[in-house]
Amino acid sequence: MEVIHTVEWMKQVAREARAEGRLAGFVPTMGALHAGHLSLIEAARRDASPVIVSIFVNPKQFGPAEDYRKYPGDPEGDRQKLEQAGVDFLFAPPVEEIYPAGFRTSVNVEGLADRLEGKIRPGHFRGVATVVLKLLEIVVPRFAYFGRKDAQQARIIGQMAADLALDCEIVVRPIVREPDGLALSSRNLYLSPAERKAATVLYRALLRARSAMEEGERETMRIMGLMRQEFAAEPLASLDYAEMVDADSFEPIMRLTRSCLVLLAARFGAARLIDNMQVEIVESGGGAGGVVCTL
Ligand code: AMP
Repeated sequence: MEVIHTVEWMKQVAREARAEGRLAGFVPTMGALHAGHLSLIEAARRDASPVIVSIFVNPKQFGPAEDYRKYPGDPEGDRQKLEQAGVDFLFAPPVEEIYPAGFRTSVNVEGLADRLEGKIRPGHFRGVATVVLKLLEIVVPRFAYFGRKDAQQARIIGQMAADLALDCEIVVRPIVREPDGLALSSRNLYLSPAERKAATVLYRALLRARSAMEEGERETMRIMGLMRQEFAAEPLASLDYAEMVDADSFEPIMRLTRSCLVLLAARFGAARLIDNMQVEIVESGGGAGGVVCTL
């Protein structure tokens, strides 16, 4: 695996691969790699060559009171994992390479970026869209891979790619979870043992919502109420939101009549974690059953 630190060199390498007729697969990350990241790399290896992974902790997507300065990092461990995973190029630029002095441009995906995560973390998705577009312009991959763990992010990147007619397919992959259901996240490293146990409430709340829907519940207020009850019984958790939204617009829905997402965000000590579940309606009516939930 070749490690690349500059934009110019990354562009050169990517250009050469394209000149050979190769279609690159790209996995953008912020490092502290875990099996969730590796699942994206596996998918990239199946579809594309070369496989290019970036590690860049993007200052523009962190608010002033957030964890940019202490975001977990493990450069040597990450390098070994990527090597083992068969990655061809690691792009690990310093901040000045991506945001040289005088950088002024930002990308805003109207509407979608202002809700839920975007409301609690103002400017977050502007930072995400800006860095992802810049990385895609440098690497020019045929495929770019994102996790459904960050469902709103994946939706926003897909919208950006469509709006700007990017020649890159945005591939969204399933959530990788621990055996007890906790979604893998670099921020899980912040959890104390007690908080780690408490954090399974995210998964438990989603399961509770699923059971209710499988029993025929279609009123989102009631389903959200059940999830809030789970959180209320967990003293180490502080819920930011438990929402049910249309999978396309991310607007709240009142009744479950079409595909939607159940989205959760909560704090456990220093860790702020998110999780979600996809819900498909497989029959009209609203009797028992009729939903397929993907955790
Ligand atoms: P991050 O390093 O947290 O910015 O994440 C990089 C990519 O990995 C994003 O597309 C995330 O959605 C994805 N990702 C993070 N955690 C998981 C997970 N548990 N399962 C699948 N994908 C994930």
